[in-house]
Amino acid sequence: MENLTIDKPVDCPPAGRIITVERVATANLPTERGNFRIAGYRSLISDEEFVVLIKGEMRAEVPTLVRIHSQCLTGDVFGSIKCDCGPQLHKAMEMIEAEGRGAIVYQQQEGRGIGILNKIRAYALQDEGADTVEANEKLGFAIDARTYEQCAEILFDLGLCQVKVISNNPDKLRALEQAGLTIAERIPIEVETDAPAAHYLKVKKEKMGHLLNS
Ligand SMILES: [Zn+2]
Repeated sequence: MENLTIDKPVDCPPAGRIITVERVATANLPTERGNFRIAGYRSLISDEEFVVLIKGEMRAEVPTLVRIHSQCLTGDVFGSIKCDCGPQLHKAMEMIEAEGRGAIVYQQQEGRGIGILNKIRAYALQDEGADTVEANEKLGFAIDARTYEQCAEILFDLGLCQVKVISNNPDKLRALEQAGLTIAERIPIEVETDAPAAHYLKVKKEKMGHLLNS
């Protein structure tokens, strides 16, 4: 957080880019997976809030491990095995701890942007046989309602310009690149999953273009 202005490439953030998030507070956060800094951001154009875990110095000239993690209450907190979100979050924390540098933007777009209550409605449809994509469609929602513009703005605010993105989701990489970040590398993330999540991941791969090997 200290070296926000060192050797920043001239076009980062891109000229004319309006930053629509504001850092509210930063504090230490010791965790089971290492010591991090935690920062809270709020959107200046909506009521959305963001939390960022930060490890090490954020420097514009250093390609830095980054994960954009979308909130998944059921997976992150309750340990649901319908998806692989919780293990992915923990794995990303461990990767950043091992590297000694990186950031996780935790965006509160639950259920790919439809909110926790609608996600439970979608789960109810899945109990009746729909897959994750069909359930969203039946409820009249986009398959993926998330946007990543403000996540990119947070990375700019942290002082980052070049990122090594921990993700299997090509939409996230495209969005960060379009926002003006340099994608130095994509770091795949695959975790051990139980049977329900394996089906979910198959759907994500086949219907949403996620880059998964297994
Ligand atoms: Zn999940």
